[in-house]
Amino acid sequence: QFPFGRRLPCDIYWHGVSFHDNNIFSGQVNKFPGMMETVRKITLSRAMRTMQDLFPLEYNFYPRSWILPEELPLFVAEVRMMKDSDPSWKPTFIVKPDGGCQGDGIYLIKDPSDIRLTGSIQSRPAVVQEYICKPLLVDKLKFDIRLYVLLKSLEPLEIYIAKDGLSRFCTEPYQEPTLKNLHQVFMHLTNYSLNIHSGNFIHSDSVNTGSKRTFSSILCRLSSRGADVKKLWSDIISLVIKTIIALTPELKVYYQSDIPAGKPGPTCFQILGFDILLMKNLKPVLLEVNANPSMRIEHEQELSPGVFENVPSPVDEEVKVAVIRDTLRLVDPQKKKRKDTQCPHGRGWNQMSCKVPCKPNHSVILCRRCQSLEQVPEANEELPPAAGPAARPEPDAPRGREAALPSLCLKQVFPKYAKQFNYLRLVDRVAALFIRFLGVKGTTKLGPTGFRTFIRNCKLSNSNFSMAAVDILYIDITRRWNSMGIDHKESGMCLQAFVEAFFCLAQKKYKSLPLHEQVASLVEFCECHLAALHGKRLVWGCG
Ligand code: ADP
Repeated sequence: QFPFGRRLPCDIYWHGVSFHDNNIFSGQVNKFPGMMETVRKITLSRAMRTMQDLFPLEYNFYPRSWILPEELPLFVAEVRMMKDSDPSWKPTFIVKPDGGCQGDGIYLIKDPSDIRLTGSIQSRPAVVQEYICKPLLVDKLKFDIRLYVLLKSLEPLEIYIAKDGLSRFCTEPYQEPTLKNLHQVFMHLTNYSLNIHSGNFIHSDSVNTGSKRTFSSILCRLSSRGADVKKLWSDIISLVIKTIIALTPELKVYYQSDIPAGKPGPTCFQILGFDILLMKNLKPVLLEVNANPSMRIEHEQELSPGVFENVPSPVDEEVKVAVIRDTLRLVDPQKKKRKDTQCPHGRGWNQMSCKVPCKPNHSVILCRRCQSLEQVPEANEELPPAAGPAARPEPDAPRGREAALPSLCLKQVFPKYAKQFNYLRLVDRVAALFIRFLGVKGTTKLGPTGFRTFIRNCKLSNSNFSMAAVDILYIDITRRWNSMGIDHKESGMCLQAFVEAFFCLAQKKYKSLPLHEQVASLVEFCECHLAALHGKRLVWGCG
């Protein structure tokens, strides 16, 4: 801990809540810039909506959602339409304030007119979502799953999922929502922080009983009932990969703004908490993503009235210790080859063969910027394998320790399954175009000139679509997004507004295709023109 400021560079920085230090020039930070903002309820719902528009079947694991207050009229109209077309449909909705956590401010409604508009919606935006009425029950109780996911790298995308997670149980037997039981939080909300206050909460010292259990214990139980647990896992993996694919475009915009390419800076990784609900038919549904999941392995116990003590929680310990341990193993800086590491100038080292006599077990490295030579001790893991007894690492050296550790609980799922999912990374390519035209590093919003340059360089303007029409499109969309009041710090067009403009252009240009094909065609069209332009510039440059 550095309460008075840090002086020496570190190889791993562990930030408590979010990425908050722009004075880090090397090493790895355990948070991505902008992650907190990207997984907020409204931003997540928007990102999922974009993906649902493009790939409705692939993204049907996220409940239909509307953003309040701006989409209240749309919510009312759509529900009325669906009820008219199917009078037997008796839905329930869940209203969740944006930025809330631990069930704070959440309530259930049966009809859009029940939304509590008195002041709070205007001052506190929210998401209203279709309520999953038929969850899978265990011991007659509703429960959800907390899974830990490591986003190890954004570019290239690397995702790991923990093999075990937590199941958090309600403390009142579940009944389908009725006007009478809508307010019973211990029946409908699975939050630990709420249910702990119910008299029925059971702290358990075993992993397969009580109000918090391991997910693997649930899987065992389901498997013994004949459920297809393999299929369930593969559905969960697919849900996690697809969700991260929906989040990466926004994250990349924040990343280039806080850690501009070509300048010395850290790389990032992050442990995320995925909250998943299983439906009665075992289909997993995404509830939310937590940027800062609790890693507590103790809980409070009231010894006598008003006297509390922290006692170990074996279930939390079993799952969370493994997640932290394996995250550190995966990002272990000692593992990286020295040539990949950063020198103090941020340019990296060049390994030199040692021609001059140097200290034993040291090698010579050359800083790419100042060209100075330095002698550094050789790292144990770089010893040539099995080169004789003298070359073997010490028993407590990193390699020896690694061998003594249990097998990894974090399982790589991306790029392992990249082939199956790469076609979904369309908005990523739109974001790459957006970032290219952002111009000045450090911004997250596109100015009117940047947008015009994008249109011109990609040859999107013609007699049917004049530059005046381009300006109108920019102003219309940008104004609407900025009036939603998400981020007033910068003016200009945010990524989501650019994506909307891009979809408009794609629909205009490729009228008869489905949306994802329209967008894919326009992305290719733009990439081609930019590549040709880049080629020309190179030729002129040579000339
Ligand atoms: P918070 O961040 O406040 O915990 P969540 O989105 O996780 O908000 O919702 C809190 C709880 O409400 C969840 O743990 C789950 O039990 C329940 N819940 C949330 N959304 C739904 C939904 N669409 N259908 C059924 N239950 C839900």
